[in-house]
Amino acid sequence: MNISALVRNDLPDLIAMRHQLHANPELGLEEEWTSDFVARELAMLGYEVHRGLARTGVVGTLRNGSSTRAIGLRADMDALPIQEETGLDYASKKPGLMHACGHDGHVTMLLGAARAIAERRNFDGTVHLIFQPAEENAGGALLMVEEGLFERFPCDAIFALHNEPALPFGQFALREGPIMAAVDEARIIVQGRGGHGAEPESTIDPVVASAAIVMALQTIVSRNIDPMDQAVVTVGAIHGGSASNIIPERVELVVGIRSFGSAARDHLEKRITEIARLQAESYGCRAMIDYFRSYDATINHKAETDYLREVAIRFAGRENVADLEHPFMGSEDFAYMLNARPGSYFFLGSRVTPDDKPLHHPGYDFNDDIIPLGVAFWTELVEDYLKPR
Ligand code: ZN
Repeated sequence: MNISALVRNDLPDLIAMRHQLHANPELGLEEEWTSDFVARELAMLGYEVHRGLARTGVVGTLRNGSSTRAIGLRADMDALPIQEETGLDYASKKPGLMHACGHDGHVTMLLGAARAIAERRNFDGTVHLIFQPAEENAGGALLMVEEGLFERFPCDAIFALHNEPALPFGQFALREGPIMAAVDEARIIVQGRGGHGAEPESTIDPVVASAAIVMALQTIVSRNIDPMDQAVVTVGAIHGGSASNIIPERVELVVGIRSFGSAARDHLEKRITEIARLQAESYGCRAMIDYFRSYDATINHKAETDYLREVAIRFAGRENVADLEHPFMGSEDFAYMLNARPGSYFFLGSRVTPDDKPLHHPGYDFNDDIIPLGVAFWTELVEDYLKPR
């Protein structure tokens, strides 16, 4: 059977599967039920199933023919700590937890492809289907890589997709080089000396020093970063004080930092640290800074992105394949898989109306209408990459 007929036959079942996954969300590294579900399905289809990488990670491997070439496709499995407000009949059964990023759809599309690939067996080489935990917070991709993912399952190229309700339905959006940002966080405690609000001369006011730090941080992107580079410095939280007649002991600032490229990332850390410390000192305060490096930037490899573009154009038509002019400022731990192996990460647009809820919104739901596109594309990509030669 050809791919599209196969996917059409399977679609009602895949939609039911997606709704079942949606109703049973699990947080990063706790995807026990989801992991069992994925492993059972892969085993039933005849895949070798490997479990335990990054606790709940699953890898399904299928070999055919004699070629030593191998391709890896990744889906993420985790949900978010959000109270669902969709009112759907298959809404989350767990209070305060929901699949608000469509990872239920990513799992479904990769399992759908697992079926089509196994049924057609129209490839020469090895397929590794990688189901990773904890994309949202704990960096499940990095854990899997550190625990030997690619030593145990060597891949010549790896690919991953994310649904994107901000992009037109059915659009494949790609980009060579940076596609998602690196994300870091700084926690700054500005320590002063508290006292009576009516006697500021006998205190060291950390509120005034913090205000100066917030303003001075705004100069980093405009004055210290190459105008051709992109970066964000956001003071997302400021905590301190309790009443108008009290000068507090200390104020806490929480800063979110996004960047691409390691030079800019290092420079941001250096300037944020210097500005916080020296501004605080100029007001007689002391700044204590904890700087956490979170996900690396997601950088797509050229050859694999060119290849992906070519397959996508053949699959969806030129008008449905877009090269993104700018990367997204969000982040993605597939970055670490791309640091280890060549590959490419792309978006599949799912927007139907301009009112579609964005990712991470309590009213968001994965658009089931892109399931056949995702399943057929993954299958096509595998069969093309592992074409018998
Ligand atoms: Zn996501």
